Amino acid sequence: MYKKTFGQLEMSAQVTSGICPTCRESSMFVSLTPEIFRCITCGADCRQHVNGKISYIPITSSKSVDVTVDV
Ligand SMILES: [Zn+2]
Repeated sequence: MYKKTFGQLEMSAQVTSGICPTCRESSMFVSLTPEIFRCITCGADCRQHVNGKISYIPITSSKSVDVTVDV
């Protein structure tokens, strides 16, 4: 009755590679959640965005704030 499904949930952190949007290095990412990955180079948390190809979007720790950058 009690199915053992923990094996899947207890997977160790997944590591993937990609270009970090924060440090712009070709880096490795460690998954914190299935969506959130942390760059091991600079420690930035990024959201994995799959849209035809995999890309990483930096997550700002603060609440979503519109950032305007003067160029
Ligand atoms: Zn980085």
